[in-house]
Amino acid sequence: MMDQIERHRLEDALDCAASWKAEAMQYKALLVEARRAIGDHSAPDDCYATGPLTGDPFRDLVQCPACSFIAMYDEAIAQAPSPESVA
Ligand SMILES: [Zn+2]
Repeated sequence: MMDQIERHRLEDALDCAASWKAEAMQYKALLVEARRAIGDHSAPDDCYATGPLTGDPFRDLVQCPACSFIAMYDEAIAQAPSPESVA
């Protein structure tokens, strides 16, 4: 049987999980908006190499920031929680 302390710990854990899921959904929404801001981007015609400078010569002079973001976005969004999984 669950005592009072165990019940409080379980409630705290559930609150923490709900908070984490809500935060994850906010980050997912942020990613979706950033992807929407880039819009259609077809490599190599739409690519450009000089975006906001990072200090990394390869990234600043060679790597297209839009392509780099889209690759990260596709990977992150595939792992993001769906709204149905948020308690
Ligand atoms: Zn590109």
